[in-house]
Amino acid sequence: MFGATFAYKAKQAGKKCLVIDKRPHLGGNVYCEKTEGINVHKYGAHIFHTSNKEVWDFVNSLVPFNRYTNSPVANYHGELYNLPFNMNTFSQLWGVRTPEEAKAKIDEQRAEALAALDGREPANLEEQALCLVGKDIFYKLIKEYTEKQWGRDCKELPAFIIKRLPVRFVFDNNYFNDLYQGIPIGGYNRLVEKLLEGVDTRVNCDFFVEYKDSWREVADQLVYTGPIDEYFGYQLGRLDWRTVTFKTRVEDTPNYQGNAVINYTSHDVPYTRVIEHKHFEMFGQVVYDCPKTVVSEEYSTEYKPGMEQFYPVNDERNNALAEQYRELAAKENNVIFGGRLAEYKYYDMAPIIEKVLKMEIIL
Ligand code: UDP
Repeated sequence: MFGATFAYKAKQAGKKCLVIDKRPHLGGNVYCEKTEGINVHKYGAHIFHTSNKEVWDFVNSLVPFNRYTNSPVANYHGELYNLPFNMNTFSQLWGVRTPEEAKAKIDEQRAEALAALDGREPANLEEQALCLVGKDIFYKLIKEYTEKQWGRDCKELPAFIIKRLPVRFVFDNNYFNDLYQGIPIGGYNRLVEKLLEGVDTRVNCDFFVEYKDSWREVADQLVYTGPIDEYFGYQLGRLDWRTVTFKTRVEDTPNYQGNAVINYTSHDVPYTRVIEHKHFEMFGQVVYDCPKTVVSEEYSTEYKPGMEQFYPVNDERNNALAEQYRELAAKENNVIFGGRLAEYKYYDMAPIIEKVLKMEIIL
């Protein structure tokens, strides 16, 4: 997203631009592959959401977006709960019917954790979650899922990760609070094609093999969107990452799980979630007009050399090391480091686009 949006802007500013990708295709992790007429999110589910009108208008000017609204369901030992945490979840958990009843229940659930804090701020994800929603939700819907996703105890993870999830006292299963949300009609590849229209591109091209020592011979400016530690040859040590892998299969039914995303929140199920890709782009009768479906189980593991980096691990050691790398990056002449991997930040798509739109292209 960073690279393609930057290339789009550079082209608009009259610059000549070459985008390279070491993979056999462009588009980074939003790239989709068509199977059985369904766009399969090959590198994990991507749902575009933003409250920034400029960003929303920008992407829609390239390709119109559909009305997909993310409303994942959690499966805990076969019990189903709506996400994010809202009146539907509370009534499924405790049989409460009104916001007042739900608030009273949550207050009871949080009391112990709040007393233990004694006025100080939550220091980690576990404390944050227990103070926010209390113990039932923490133990059924957060703890084991989070530990599966991050491979770390909730006490070792930063509080901000759980603040991504809204808590609502209305019957509203929309996962995001943003004003705008959707999937590009026809899939993400269309968006990437539009961004890169008129831009030179090369795939199967590894920067470290082909350009690391020679890019200054072909360009005045480099935009690097790969892992920041790799750029510097791991000279300060390796950053940790989480990686995700997918087991994808075709099911001979038009509607396998009735939702795009089902999270499996207990640790006895080895995957974190199951994605049924057609529900991102097919609604109503269209689901049944397409006779098969494609589902992916998502597995989260610790990154090892040779794997793909997906999520930065924002614990103390890694944040400090990333900061040292960022200091090195700031000293690199004519190199812009951008995106999740090059900034070592847990970015969504829209803030990346927003960032690039705000950048002044004065090359
Ligand atoms: N989370 C959870 N239970 C869920 C879904 C999410 O505890 O069923 C927590 C978990 O800690 C996760 C965080 O919320 O890391 C953010 O989830 P999100 O869905 O935003 O992650 P992403 O889609 O970026 O993988």
